[in-house]
Amino acid sequence: MTRKCVLASNNKGKLREFNALFAPLQIEVVAQGALGVESCPEPYFTFLENALTKARHASRVTGLPALADDSGICADALKGRPGVFSARYAGDQCDDEANNAKLIEQLSDKEDKSAHYTCVLVAVRDADDPEPIVVEGRWNGQIISEAAGTGGFGYDPYFYLPEFGCTAAQLTAEQKNAVSHRGKAMKAMIEAIAERWGW
Ligand code: IMP
Repeated sequence: MTRKCVLASNNKGKLREFNALFAPLQIEVVAQGALGVESCPEPYFTFLENALTKARHASRVTGLPALADDSGICADALKGRPGVFSARYAGDQCDDEANNAKLIEQLSDKEDKSAHYTCVLVAVRDADDPEPIVVEGRWNGQIISEAAGTGGFGYDPYFYLPEFGCTAAQLTAEQKNAVSHRGKAMKAMIEAIAERWGW
C-alpha cells in the first residue's frame, strides 16, 4: 500500500529528492501546490518554528501527513545570521549576488569565517500532532570572498569546503546530496519516520 504525504513546498528539486528517498518505504510525496495549498507566511526567527508552521498548515488544508523544511546559512561570527533570513538577507527584492555580497561584507572585519548550512525538517501525522518529528542536518564550511564554481545555488559559490578543497558550487549534485545539510536531514527523517510511525 502506498502512503501519501504532502510536502509544504513546490520546489521541484526537493520533491524529486524526497520521492527518491521515500520510494523504498512506499511513501509518495506530493507538492502542496498540486493539492491546492497556498504558501503560508514564515514570520519566525527560527528554522524550527517556520518548518513546523508550514507542516501544520499543509496538513490542515489537505488532511494528509505533512513534511516541511526550512534552511539557510549561519555564520558563527554573526551569531548564526543570516539564518532564516538567508533568502532575503540583502532585502526583500534581492538576489543571490546581493545576499552573498552582504554576507562577505558583514564578515570582512571578522577573523572567524566559519559558517554552516542548516536544514530543519519536520513531519506531522496531522495538523495538531502533539509529537512532530524534528530532525536537523548541518554542513560546515568557510565563507570566502572570491566565487568559485557554477553548480548549486544561493551561497554555494562562496561556501568553501576544506575536506573537498573546493566550494559547494564545484561539487556534482550527487556529491552535494551525499554530504549536504538537506541530504543529512532527509536521511535522518526517513529513519525517524520508519522507527516512530512504523511506516
Ligand atoms: P530554503 O529553505 O530551501 O528555501 O532556503 C532558504 C535560503 O537558504 C535559500 O534561498 C538560500 O539562500 C539558502 N540555502 C539553503 N540551502 C542552500 C544550499 O544548499 N545552497 C545554497 N544556499 C542555500
